[in-house]
Amino acid sequence: MKRPIIISGPCSAETEEQTIATCTRLAETKKVDILRAGIWKPRTSPESFEGVGELGLIWFENAKRITGLPIAVEVANAEHVHKALAHGVDYVWIGARTTVNPFNVKEIAHALKGAKIKVLIKNPINPDLSLWSGAIERIAHTLGIENIWLVHRGFSAYGYSEYRNVPLWHLVFDIRRQFPETKIICDPSHICGNRENLLKISQIAADLNYDGLMIESHIYPNAAWSDANQQITPDSLNILLKSLKWRDVNSNSSIFSYSLNSIRSEIDQIDSDLFELLSRRMKLAEEIGRVKLTGNVSIYQEQRWKSIVERIMSRAKRLNLNEAFIHSILEIIHAESINRQNTVMNKTENI
Ligand code: PEP
Ligand code: MN
Repeated sequence: MKRPIIISGPCSAETEEQTIATCTRLAETKKVDILRAGIWKPRTSPESFEGVGELGLIWFENAKRITGLPIAVEVANAEHVHKALAHGVDYVWIGARTTVNPFNVKEIAHALKGAKIKVLIKNPINPDLSLWSGAIERIAHTLGIENIWLVHRGFSAYGYSEYRNVPLWHLVFDIRRQFPETKIICDPSHICGNRENLLKISQIAADLNYDGLMIESHIYPNAAWSDANQQITPDSLNILLKSLKWRDVNSNSSIFSYSLNSIRSEIDQIDSDLFELLSRRMKLAEEIGRVKLTGNVSIYQEQRWKSIVERIMSRAKRLNLNEAFIHSILEIIHAESINRQNTVMNKTENI
C-alpha cells in the first residue's frame, strides 16, 4: 500500500497550549509527517480572527523541537517569508486568496530566493487554472519545480452546495497533466467545511492517486477561533486515517489484468459505437437543416426539443442513468446539432 504524506495541525495557532497540545497529540499518532498552523490568517471578513502573528512562530518552533516533525505555515507576502525562514519553518504554503494575486506571488517568489524550503501552492479560490499554473511557474522560476507541491482545496461556488468549496476534480486533472512530476495534496477540510464529509473526500483523493492529505485538527475543535466546524481532534484524525484505503496504482496479478482488459475492450467497442452513432446523428442534423432551409423554417423548435428531453429522460430513469448526466449530454448534442444546421442554412458568401 502506498504511504501518503499527511499534513495536519490547527487552522490557526491560537495559544501556546493549544498549539503544543495539538501538535504533540498528532505526533503520538505516528501518522503525521508535517505539522501545519496558520499564523497569519487571510480572512474574508475583517471581524474574523486574523492570526496571532510572529508570536505563533515561536510556539510552533517549540512544537517542532518537541515532536521532531517539520512545520508548515501560510505566507502571503515577503515579510511573512522572512519571518518564517528566521523561525526554522520547513514548508510554506500559499493560500487560495494569495494564489490569485500575481503581485503577491512574485513578491513571495523573490523573498524565497535561495531558501532551502518546499512551497505548497493551493489552488486559487475561483476555478481559473491559469492563475494556479502562473503561480506555480513564478515560484518554480526562483526555487525550481522540484520544490513545489500542489494543494487542492476546492473552488468557491455561488449559491448552495453541499461543499464549502466544490472539488471540481476534473479541473485538477488538467493541472496535474501540466505538472505530471509534481506532488499533489488534497485538503478535504476546506473542501468540506464540515467534519462529516472528510472521510468521503479523503477516500476519493486516495482513489485518484493523490500523494497526501492536509487535514485541519485541533485539540478542542468546537472551541477553535477559526474553521471550528471542519476541524477534528488528533484522535479522530487517527481513526479517519485508519479507515482510509490507499490502493495501489497498478497490480501484477494476472487475474486482475485479465478481468480489467476484457472489460476495457468491451468499453472500447462501446465507445466506438457511440461515436459512430453520434456521427450519423450529426449527418441527419445537416439533412434536417437542408429541409428547413427549403421550407424556410427556423432552426430552433421548442416543442420538438421538449419532447426529445421528455422521452430520453424517462428512458434514462428506467436505464438507471443519472438524470443530470443525461440532461447535460442531451444539451451538448442539441447545441452541436444546432451548429450543424446553422452551417447548412446560413452559408455566408465571402465578401
Ligand atoms: C488554511 O489552510 O487555513 C487556509 C486559509 O486555506 P485556504 O487558503 O485554502 O482557504
Ligand atoms: Mn482553515
